[in-house]
Amino acid sequence: MTVVGTPDQPLRVAVIGSGPAAFYAVEHLFKQPALVADVDMFERLPTPHGLVRYGVAPDHPKIKTVTRAYDTIARHPRFRFFGSVGFGEHLTLADLSRHYHQVVFATGAQTDRRMGIPGEDLEGSHAATEFVAWYNGHPDYRAHQFDLSVERAAVVGVGNVAIDVARMLVRTPEELVKTDIAAHALEALRNSRIREVFLLGRRGPAQAAFTNPEVKEIGEMADADVIVRPDEVQLDPLSQAQVDAAQDRTLVRKVEILQGYALRKPEGKRRRLHVRFLVSPVELLGDERGRVAGMRLVRNRLVESGTGALSAEATGQFEELPVGLVFRSVGYRGVALPGIPFHERWGVIPNDKGRVLDAGSHQPVTGLYATGWIKRGPSGVIGTNKPDSVETVTSMLADLARGAHWLPAEPDPRAAEALVVARQPLAVTYADWRRLDALECSGGQACGRPRLKFVAVEEMMEALGRTEPSR
Ligand code: NAP
Repeated sequence: MTVVGTPDQPLRVAVIGSGPAAFYAVEHLFKQPALVADVDMFERLPTPHGLVRYGVAPDHPKIKTVTRAYDTIARHPRFRFFGSVGFGEHLTLADLSRHYHQVVFATGAQTDRRMGIPGEDLEGSHAATEFVAWYNGHPDYRAHQFDLSVERAAVVGVGNVAIDVARMLVRTPEELVKTDIAAHALEALRNSRIREVFLLGRRGPAQAAFTNPEVKEIGEMADADVIVRPDEVQLDPLSQAQVDAAQDRTLVRKVEILQGYALRKPEGKRRRLHVRFLVSPVELLGDERGRVAGMRLVRNRLVESGTGALSAEATGQFEELPVGLVFRSVGYRGVALPGIPFHERWGVIPNDKGRVLDAGSHQPVTGLYATGWIKRGPSGVIGTNKPDSVETVTSMLADLARGAHWLPAEPDPRAAEALVVARQPLAVTYADWRRLDALECSGGQACGRPRLKFVAVEEMMEALGRTEPSR
């Protein structure tokens, strides 16, 4: 019997998705000294790198340099990238089981959580994730419209996504032009009339999810003052006790930075970013045309919950905040994949150390694995995906060792390629992506920008001369 994972019968792995978790899983597979593995990565967009390209804020270019490591992984001779190929659209689970021993889902968290309050669907109320995808040039969001003719906007939530969105709203065109922000978003933000942005935390500064570099960054913007109310950053006794007990220098520093902002006098900059705490939106208020005109907030106090964490409890004291634009930034959420178990409430694929669990029996389903946000939920930074993917690959290798994997009827890599190309003649290779990448960079150079992103799939295909199948 041929042993799977050897030169005679390489392990055949399909990876669905091409973000950080996907690449770290591939990296760990290729690192195994005694394993011969062929990896095919499938991505529904022509461009790889997932949230690094479409999620990381344009004014954080250093974070994006992580893609160089992904390019190195992609150069492995046993790696193939199939862009513009969607799981469920071009390939089914049954297809994959004919060609691979194992499949890893690394599809991330493609939608957002909702606030669940009246008025949430008024015009002018958006998911922060849509705005992020729009300013980053995601093809599915390029035609979205955000009314930037209003003067006041609110961002609900105080995580890193919320702070990214708030920052992008108050940056000057001069700051933005230096970034790889999509041209349509640069143009719209150039004409923006937004003057005030409110970042709204339901708990206090000691519980805020955003991280210190991001908190510092908002105090250093070219034409936006940061405004914090002294009473909202004074720690209540419960928070103070928690901070003291945690002995976490980073947390103490975060609170200090925010308290420092409360002492600052506004410098008269043209825009203001208000960071508010202990308030929850309870309703979005509409005008006569059904557009957001304001928000009703309730003041909260912190109470100890059963788990020992501090949670927000409404006080019954309300205020109204007139805003014409609202972004909810209360967390991303995974999307169910056809035929794959899904935990509706948590928005993830149920799994044990990356092994996908059957929804009924809760037993591992042979051949199926998950990694990244679709596995653990939308938490952590890019690097968090590395140990997460190592854990999943460790499970894959253990299952391989005991023969618990699919037995593909057509393990020849050429058969898989033939199938993909038959289903999607415009499938994109990694070399194609590298050409697009070079074109975007040279296009940017020509107009003094780091990159000019292609934002439409048709533009990408045209740039590649790919109206005909070319593999
Ligand atoms: P997050 O860090 O989980 O923050 C979610 C925020 O929403 C929290 O402030 C949370 O408050 C709040 N929230 C949840 N439900 C709410 C409700 N019903 N009403 C009001 N507020 C509510 O999520 P994220 O900002 O989407 O970020 C996702 C992950 O990506 C995080 O790990 C983040 O650090 C990472 N990320 C990193 C960067 C970076 O490194 N620069 C940039 C972007 C994202 P509670 O704490 O009270 O629940």
